[in-house]
Amino acid sequence: MSIEAAGARGTRRVAIVGAGVLGLAAGRALARRGVAVDLYERWPDVAGMASAFDLGNGVWIDRYYHHLFQSDREMTALHDELLPGELEWHRSTVGMYADGRIWPFVSPLDLIRYGPLAPADRVRLGLAVLRLARRTDWERMDEVSALDWLRRACGERALEKVWRPLMLGKFGDDAPAIPLAWLWSKLALRRQKLSGGGAAKERLGYPRSSFRAICVALADDIRRHGGRVHLDREVVRVDRDGEGFALRAAAPGAYRLPAGTAPADGERTARADAVLLTTPTHVARRLAAWGDAYAARLDAWTYRTAVVLLLELRDRFSGTYWTNVVDRDMPFLGLIEHTNLVPAERYPARYLYVSNYVARDDPLARMGTDELLRHYAPALRRVNARFDERAVLRAWSFREDAAQPVPRIGNRRRMLPLATPIDGLYVANTTQIYPEDRGTNYSAKLGREVGERLAGRT
Ligand SMILES: Cc1cc2nc3c(=O)[nH]c(=O)nc-3n(C[C@H](O)[C@H](O)[C@H](O)COP(=O)(O)OP(=O)(O)OC[C@H]3O[C@@H](n4cnc5c(N)ncnc54)[C@H](O)[C@@H]3O)c2cc1C
Repeated sequence: MSIEAAGARGTRRVAIVGAGVLGLAAGRALARRGVAVDLYERWPDVAGMASAFDLGNGVWIDRYYHHLFQSDREMTALHDELLPGELEWHRSTVGMYADGRIWPFVSPLDLIRYGPLAPADRVRLGLAVLRLARRTDWERMDEVSALDWLRRACGERALEKVWRPLMLGKFGDDAPAIPLAWLWSKLALRRQKLSGGGAAKERLGYPRSSFRAICVALADDIRRHGGRVHLDREVVRVDRDGEGFALRAAAPGAYRLPAGTAPADGERTARADAVLLTTPTHVARRLAAWGDAYAARLDAWTYRTAVVLLLELRDRFSGTYWTNVVDRDMPFLGLIEHTNLVPAERYPARYLYVSNYVARDDPLARMGTDELLRHYAPALRRVNARFDERAVLRAWSFREDAAQPVPRIGNRRRMLPLATPIDGLYVANTTQIYPEDRGTNYSAKLGREVGERLAGRT
């Protein structure tokens, strides 16, 4: 049965598992169309990967660094509608850490001055990126390995000095299988937003009270339209129950345990006529009784785990907002100095995210905050000789197992349709965002579209 048919039949109550951006946008679309909707969220707060925490005195900061590009129209429109004036655009600075220093890497002039590459290689790299960003045949690019194309287009030296460290850092052993279409969409979207002002004037969006604010506003709007958002409600099982579904949830506080380990609490069973799972595919896999063929499709999806250390510092760490670390001896992939994008006066101190993407079983994914800080400190000193871990005011660390879905060559054929083989049960998550890279904008858009289709109004 198609999603449209579910709406046409007149779905009475829809349950959504997950109150991240996608689940909230879907819930809002349904609630605004008069469908009774219940959202179930494992954590005691909304926003999922876009969540934030209070630094004290009501100043919120994202657990994972976030910004919007000017091409992120869905998120921009949501802010304009629900939180007018909240989204601000700031001048961004991007750099590459290589050969012992940060090289500015925003404008064509920066590329011409990029010392780690010989002049001829810089020109070749610049022309290749321009050529790639102008292409539109993304389905052909879905059949080509990004690293193979980059080797041919930019040459072996640019591959070793720029692309391979970036791709290995993000995707590890899977890097050779990443399709060119994935890289293309990142470059093409970035180019789109630059078309007005030129590369040197890149501006990035950041909401005054963190990315959580729009999620809270979406949840409020769902409630205003009669929907319900149940927090601290981990769904552990979704089973057919007559014409509809029974959703069994764990007891309060299950979020303190590893996901999926808490048993169902007999008191917490809810009913729905249709269910939308917005969880990662490995969570969807364990929630329902899928047939073998569909279970294999879910299992085929893997993710890279984000490990992020957030440091509160008295002083500025660097002059750059976003630094890609392309030196393979360094133990992290990126340095994101939030207070080099958003004015530091808004915060009690300066904030630096140290970012990594690793395999789920990587030792880094098991390190505590102090251990991570000790592990990274010598490398942080290589970037800024004055860095002293004893001068760190506070530190936090966060891990997200399903941070980055791993696309593979021929990815468009692996993507799951929204409707599953179980009539009335749907899946929508970051694996269905492609060729764009996952991001709040595309989760908001996919969520709205799924909600509209489930409500039978398209
Ligand atoms: C390090 C990092 C940096 C990022 N940077 C950016 C950026 O700069 N800009 C940008 O736009 N995006 C960025 N993103 C991506 C963005 O945060 C995500 O794409 C987006 O928030 C995903 O929303 P979602 O609702 O699809 O998924 P999620 O946020 O993962 O939502 C799924 C929800 O389901 C809940 N859940 C899971 N299992 C259960 C269960 N059994 N029962 C109930 N609830 C459950 C989870 O707790 C979660 O809240 C970044 C992400 C990371 C990790």
